[in-house]
Amino acid sequence: MNSIYIHIPFCVRKCAYCDFLSGPASKERQEMYYRALSREIAACAPLGELKGPVNTLFIGGGTPSLWDGDRINGLMENIRKYYCFSEDAEITIEANPGTLDADRLKAYRRAGINRISIGLQSADDRDLKTLGRIHTFEEFLENYAAAREAGFSNINVDLMSSLPGQTAAGWKRVLTSVLKLAPEHISAYSLIIEEGTEFYDRYRDGDGLPDEEEEREIYHMTKHILEQHGYHRYEISNYCLKGYACRHNLGYWQGSQYLGFGLGASSCVGRPGGRRRRFSNISDMETYVGASGSPFALRRDNRILPLTEQMEEFMFLGLRCVDGISKSEFKEQFMRSYDGIYGKVTESLLSQGLLQDTGERVFLTEFGLDVSNRVMAEFLIDEEH
Ligand code: SF4
Repeated sequence: MNSIYIHIPFCVRKCAYCDFLSGPASKERQEMYYRALSREIAACAPLGELKGPVNTLFIGGGTPSLWDGDRINGLMENIRKYYCFSEDAEITIEANPGTLDADRLKAYRRAGINRISIGLQSADDRDLKTLGRIHTFEEFLENYAAAREAGFSNINVDLMSSLPGQTAAGWKRVLTSVLKLAPEHISAYSLIIEEGTEFYDRYRDGDGLPDEEEEREIYHMTKHILEQHGYHRYEISNYCLKGYACRHNLGYWQGSQYLGFGLGASSCVGRPGGRRRRFSNISDMETYVGASGSPFALRRDNRILPLTEQMEEFMFLGLRCVDGISKSEFKEQFMRSYDGIYGKVTESLLSQGLLQDTGERVFLTEFGLDVSNRVMAEFLIDEEH
């Protein structure tokens, strides 16, 4: 599968917990960025790094919905000039309430966007204020209704749990409010305190945040409530109604090739198990907008992934999905048997109740999902293999 990611690093203002490559910028700066992005797309196309049609495109950020319909349409036209899309391609835009309106949403649909991912984070206005979000829940509801009205039939709502002062009961109210809308997809991540953010200064020692046990309770409650409403958890933090898993993210977890355009965007191209190459764009805005767009000027850390690293990633990423990994796919990609490489580790994790092995698929148990970071670390390949 082939995917493209486009990064729009602009936001109205910086949220208190956010360490993404994003921030406010003048209209002129955004205009310069748009032109630099167009140069990059044009300059990379002749390299032919993606073979075959593009199956998913994700316009992420930042807040891509800061850009109006004309601008997003221009971006789409640019991409379409150089890449052809499969007929059923999933084309997503990330959006934040407070930057959307009916005209913008309709224009996105006309530009060919067929999925929208709305960053809500909480249905409680006090939480939204603490997080430094620019919107209220009411504004989200208006935007959500306008998105439906514009014809979006595949909507994701991003939520964030374990917020300062949040109780399990408070989180339940958030879920209940969102479930009334029946979005096709819900992402529910726990807050992580990242260095360099306002939240890091306020909460780095964990005071005022739910403790580990409360966090686990919130996680299990989320799964329980969403499943009761027909949502299937297909990845540690992602839930969907039948047939609405995010194909773009599944691609990342299942080893598809992707090209990233824009500031700091990462790419990984080449057949899994073969000559697979990874690189990232520079993350300095001045340099990016001043560059010719040539991949030689923009790309950093360009390297071929050794086979052992590819196997480790196959496991780390694949095990994030609830269905886990397929042993026959492992064999097909790496020409080595799964049991030959990971037999001993698997046996040990099975005996601890962290993993299940059906003979063909290997996946984390509920307990394994709870301590997934610890389990993943076991799949690092050492000298003995
Ligand atoms: S809107 Fe998203 S990307 Fe922008 S600052 Fe807030 S969390 Fe970060």
